[in-house]
Amino acid sequence: MPIAYINHPDCLLHDMGSGHPERAARINAIADQMNASQLMDLVHYYDAPKATRQQLARVHDDQYIDEIITYEGKEGYTYFGPDAVLSPHTPQAALRAAGALIHATDLVLTNKHKVAFCNIRPPGHHALRDQAMGFCFFNNIAVGVAHAIEEYGLNRVAIVDFDVHHGNGTEAIFTDEPRVMLCSTFQHPFYPGVGADTVSDHIINVPLPAGTTGEKFREAVTTRWLPALHKFAPQMIFISAGFDAHQDDHMAMLNLCDNDYAWVTQEILGIADKYTEGRIVSTLEGGYELQALGRSVVAHLKVLMRMV
Ligand SMILES: [Zn+2]
Repeated sequence: MPIAYINHPDCLLHDMGSGHPERAARINAIADQMNASQLMDLVHYYDAPKATRQQLARVHDDQYIDEIITYEGKEGYTYFGPDAVLSPHTPQAALRAAGALIHATDLVLTNKHKVAFCNIRPPGHHALRDQAMGFCFFNNIAVGVAHAIEEYGLNRVAIVDFDVHHGNGTEAIFTDEPRVMLCSTFQHPFYPGVGADTVSDHIINVPLPAGTTGEKFREAVTTRWLPALHKFAPQMIFISAGFDAHQDDHMAMLNLCDNDYAWVTQEILGIADKYTEGRIVSTLEGGYELQALGRSVVAHLKVLMRMV
């Protein structure tokens, strides 16, 4: 069964200002590398729908949703939170990004695909219920997870987040939700500066010091994530797939390589095969060095497509 690849041209239109690292070229770099690796012919393409207000309101406050949606058609750039700038096309891009997760969840939970990958922006894992931050507006993965729980009645959903930054928004949204397990590795101390002290049996945070290599990352996943995931026995797995822990990515100071992303994906797939009938939704978060980003996504997808 081919995997679903979900994208929308509107995701290219969001713009945080000239020279900003979270830029449309990221989406294209992934597509280019998928083409060069002949993966694009093997996936089933879907346009992302716009998320509805009801779908967003499961994880965001109404007034906050309004503030973003009503920016459509306005002109210029507006500060909207730490490292978050609204521009005229932000609403449509953000609605498509969150909608991609809804569609991915529907495709996987209706057995049309086992696996879906969302090549979307803006990213989401820093977005809080009522605040944009860290290049994120709607918490896309939280929107998808809440959809799986509310629409399909799942009661054990796992999120794994290997972005170099802690997914503080995802943690905050699900901190009192035992139906959701969050497993996260991240550089610490580093932006956004939280997560290292969390004590919870369903939030598995693994802070890693600057300079951490792939070997130590694999050890952290093996000793911290995997036992927790086996105990939780998820019905579905969502991946906050950020690739900014790559050694070539200068957004941060971890030293992963392409193969580490293949490895961690294989471990996640192993959990999925054991507990979720292989059901995985993966969505792009960070990753700013375009060559490393494209290659790492291809390494991630080749495992999800069971080509390696
Ligand atoms: Zn990041």
